[in-house]
Amino acid sequence: MRAIVQTRPGSVDTLQWTEIERPTPGAGQLLVKIAAAGVNRADIVQREGRYPAPPGASPLLGLEVAGEVAAVGEGADGFEVGEAVFGLVAGGGYAEYAVLEAACAVKRPDWLGVEQAASLPEAWMTAWLNLVQLGCLASGETALIHAGSSGVGAAAIQLAGLLGAEALTTVGSAHKADFCRALGAVAAIDYHHEDFSVVAKAHGGVDLVLDCIGGDYLEGNLLSLKPDGRLVVIGLMGGARAELDLGRLLLKRLSVQGSTLRPQPLPVKAGLTAALRDVVLPAIAAGRAKVTLDKVYPMAEVAQAHRYMEENRNLGKLVLCL
Ligand code: NAP
Repeated sequence: MRAIVQTRPGSVDTLQWTEIERPTPGAGQLLVKIAAAGVNRADIVQREGRYPAPPGASPLLGLEVAGEVAAVGEGADGFEVGEAVFGLVAGGGYAEYAVLEAACAVKRPDWLGVEQAASLPEAWMTAWLNLVQLGCLASGETALIHAGSSGVGAAAIQLAGLLGAEALTTVGSAHKADFCRALGAVAAIDYHHEDFSVVAKAHGGVDLVLDCIGGDYLEGNLLSLKPDGRLVVIGLMGGARAELDLGRLLLKRLSVQGSTLRPQPLPVKAGLTAALRDVVLPAIAAGRAKVTLDKVYPMAEVAQAHRYMEENRNLGKLVLCL
């Protein structure tokens, strides 16, 4: 099969569309003939050599795929060759074939396009893990979602709405602010012009912060939280180090948690897959949530997709197609 391969980490120039051996599905796994694969910020960090694949995972880039079942591994019951599926993979999505755990596979309904399907798993499962399972966001509460126009941000704003919670968000431009408001954000704060913690406090504070920036956002995040508030850190685009004022934690009874979807055990991913299938898909079908697919690139033009994302130009998701 052909796949996007690197012989060394680095810039987009290290990405090559080349011939390699096709993977074989093990017990409980499906081999998927890929029609579309999602692009994520993590792919760029992995490409640069700063986010290696976890042990046992494909070393290839690509965390989410959509296509059709090409082979069914032993015990992967409930799936047949030729069925349209999509789902989260621990790596290997930038290829003509990938191995998908049956527990992470969702049957693609006819109303959902294959490229749209490939844009859903990573963003929505990350949003679900961190807003619902770790952040315990409840109806009537308020969440601050950083990078609201990112793939994850766009899903998280909408998930907050589905949960009956309000979302405030941060963005880098007026254009992105419009995009986030259209997804239901009650406030979209342009961080070039406003201090997000001032706006959050003017709203009465927030119960949960979903932070993919890290670094010096820590202080503002703690200031933004109400008593008993929760900060969930899922990314470090602004840096990994910051000074933590433990006094703020104590006085407001705050909790700070970090999380990463990729190395989660299979039962956790299976639960998130069920949430995607049973809650998110019906919400999209009913028009209560949108697929935020910005652009689709041929897989061989992956360099252009990565450049577009590195320039922070995407509104929601990017997908590669075959
Ligand atoms: P994406 O679509 O590439 O969007 C990232 C956006 O973040 C950019 O468009 C930019 O928007 C904003 N941004 C970039 N650098 C920034 C900085 N230094 N300060 C403030 N804003 C910045 O991203 P994604 O693939 O959805 O991922 C979003 C984040 O979630 C990443 O950090 C990723 O690593 C993380 N993530 C974590 C997990 C997990 O399990 N822990 C899973 C998935 C994603 P503006 O123009 O508005 O600044």
